[in-house]
Amino acid sequence: YYSKKNQRKWMFWSTRLREEQRQRDTIENGLRRALKEDEFFLEYQPQFSRCGSVTGLEALLRWRTPDGRLISPATFIPVAENSGLILNISEWVLERTCAQLKLWQTQPGMETVRVSVNISPRQLKRSDFIRQTERIVSRSGVDPQRLSFEILESALASDIDDVQRKLSALRDMRINIALDNFGTGMASLTGLRKLGIGEVKIDRSFVMDMERNPDHLMAIRAMIAMCQALGINIVAEGVEEETQFSALCDMGCHRFQGWYFSRSQTPDRLVHLFS
Ligand code: C2E
Ligand code: MG
Ligand code: MG
Repeated sequence: YYSKKNQRKWMFWSTRLREEQRQRDTIENGLRRALKEDEFFLEYQPQFSRCGSVTGLEALLRWRTPDGRLISPATFIPVAENSGLILNISEWVLERTCAQLKLWQTQPGMETVRVSVNISPRQLKRSDFIRQTERIVSRSGVDPQRLSFEILESALASDIDDVQRKLSALRDMRINIALDNFGTGMASLTGLRKLGIGEVKIDRSFVMDMERNPDHLMAIRAMIAMCQALGINIVAEGVEEETQFSALCDMGCHRFQGWYFSRSQTPDRLVHLFS
């Protein structure tokens, strides 16, 4: 039986669900247009060594709509992933990154800069992922050793044999593999070794509250110890404070990415870091 109160609740939820669906549809249509009308661009966030030199860049996707609004990847990537549009978008991201690397080859100080690209779980699953990567990279004429692919730790959860085959093919191409948002998934010691992971990125959520949450501090310590034992590079993500930086240094972390050092930048604003 429906009480008045329940009925009101149900109305509330169904209205809200409809509203959320409508928003997703709007974003999805916007994304289709964005691909056609070239509304995407890339920014690059530098990663630093302990002594402050740039060790690499992460390509981060940006979307500016015709009315000038900047939409966060946190909003549109999930919609792109669900609708399958992520496949076309990812292709664009890799092509654009390679084109940028090609340009940087003639930029003094940036000739050998390395760039990480985020790989979506759906992209990793597709059967022609390797062939497509080979095609884009070889057409661009860029040395694959300057590329790193960031795979979400959560993407390792499904069909591990398929993932292993693909990561091994990437390694054969000399593309580096980094595990993104490390610590939030289930990657095991043996898994990291078997998959030939060259680098892990400690998730921002651990760094964010490491000074207040002893469990997270301990988790970071354990992750660093584990990676050191396996000879895997460690990057700490989301470093915002000097105190986080120095604590991470003390724990043996060697590479850092975060607003304390630099936000993501358009290519023209990056140049000064390398000159
Ligand atoms: P991610 O790969 O973990 O990238 C790091 C995110 O943390 C970026 O957010 C970056 O701007 C942000 N960040 C960096 N340093 C700090 C810091 O010190 N404090 C805080 N609060 N945030 C920091 P962004 O650019 O909004 O991207 C969010 C996520 O969207 C990325 O997380 C990645 O999963 C996804 N994404 C971005 N670009 C692409 C892409 O080209 N392809 C795919 N598939 N996903 C992408
Ligand atoms: Mg990433
Ligand atoms: Mg991350």
